[in-house]
Amino acid sequence: MIKAIIFDLGRVIVDVNDTDAVKALIRYTKKDQASVHFALFYSKHYENFTLGRILPAEFYAAVKKHRPKVEQLIRKLKQKKDKLKVNSNHYSLILLSDTNKLHFEFILKNYPILKEFNDVVVSYKHNCKKPSKKIFLIALKKAKSLAGAGPDECLYLDDLIENIEDARQLGITAMQYTKFHDLVAAFKRFGINRGI
Ligand SMILES: [Mg+2]
Repeated sequence: MIKAIIFDLGRVIVDVNDTDAVKALIRYTKKDQASVHFALFYSKHYENFTLGRILPAEFYAAVKKHRPKVEQLIRKLKQKKDKLKVNSNHYSLILLSDTNKLHFEFILKNYPILKEFNDVVVSYKHNCKKPSKKIFLIALKKAKSLAGAGPDECLYLDDLIENIEDARQLGITAMQYTKFHDLVAAFKRFGINRGI
C-alpha cells in the first residue's frame, strides 16, 4: 500500500516553458538563441549561470508555469482520509528536486502548493542530485519517519526516465510523469484513486 508520494518539481508540478525562458534570458545576455537554449537546458553550468545574477525574478515567472490539475490533485492527496491507516489521515507528501537556493526560494515564495508538502529534499542542501542513490535514500528516510513507509510503499513521480530507473533499483515504486491523465490512471492502479 502506498503511504508516501514523492514528487519531482520541474515538469511535474511546474512546467518549463522553454521558448519563453530563452526569450526572457536573451534580454540579459548577448548570446544567441541557440547558445542560451543550450546553456539553460543542457549545460552543466546552469546553476552557475543562474547564480551569475543575470536571471531576475521575472525570468522565473516566464520560465515556470504552474500545473493547476496537478496542484489540485496534491491538495486532494493531502486531505484524503485513508481508513486503512491508523495513525495518519493523509498521504505523506515529499518534494524531491534538483535545484539551487536562488531558484528554490523563488519557487517557495510563488507557489503556495509547496506548503502542502510534509517535507522537501533539495539537491543544494545535500550536495547531491538525482539520480544519485544518496538523494533517494534521504527521501526514503523522510518517508520512513513521516509515514512508516518502506521503499515500495513510496510512489515516486518524475518526468525523467533515468531518475525513475534509479529509484526502482532502490525498490521504490516509481512512475514516469508524462501527462495528467496517465497519472490519474496510475493512481487507480496503485489504489489511491478513491476521492480523486
Ligand atoms: Mg523534472
